[in-house]
Amino acid sequence: MNRTFSIIKPDATKRNITGSINKIIEDNNLVIIAQKRTKLTKEKAEGFYSIHKDKPFFNDLIEYMTSGPVIIQVLQGDNAVENYRKIMGATNPENAEKGTIRKEHALNIQENSVHGSDSEENAKIEINYFFEDSEIFNN
Ligand code: ATP
Ligand code: MG
Repeated sequence: MNRTFSIIKPDATKRNITGSINKIIEDNNLVIIAQKRTKLTKEKAEGFYSIHKDKPFFNDLIEYMTSGPVIIQVLQGDNAVENYRKIMGATNPENAEKGTIRKEHALNIQENSVHGSDSEENAKIEINYFFEDSEIFNN
C-alpha cells in the first residue's frame, strides 16, 4: 500500500466532471482517503509548481491553476504513484492512451484535467504541502 497526491484541475471542476474522474480513480483500485475542494492562491500554486518556474509555460500554468476551484486528494492503493500516472495518461492528451483520464477528459496539453505525483518522494512532499495528517483517513 502506498499513497499519491492528486489534483483535479480547474478545467474539470468548470465542466462539472469531477465525479467521472473519481469513478475512473475508484474503478482502478485507488481509494480516495482525503479530499478537499479549494481554490489555489498564486503563492500556493507557484510553490507547488516551483520546479517549472523557468519554463516558458510557467506564467500561463499559474494563471490556469488559479482560474477556478480544484479538488485536492490523497489516493491510496498498491503502487499508487505509478498506478495513478498510468490512469492519468500522457501530459498531452493527444498522446494519452484510450481509457485514461486525460484521453477521455483533457482539453489540451495545459488544461489536462489532473495532476499526479511523479515519485514516491514527491508524493510525500506534495501530500504534506496540502494536508495535515489529521485530515487523512484510511479504510
Ligand atoms: P502534472 O505535474 O500536472 O501531473 P505532468 O507531470 O504530466 O503533469 P509536467 O511536465 O510536470 O507534466 O507539467 C506540469 C503541468 O504544466 C502539465 O500538467 C500542464 O498542465 C502544464 N504543461 C506542461 N507542459 C506544457 C506545455 N508545453 N504547454 C503548456 N502547458 C504545459
Ligand atoms: Mg509533473
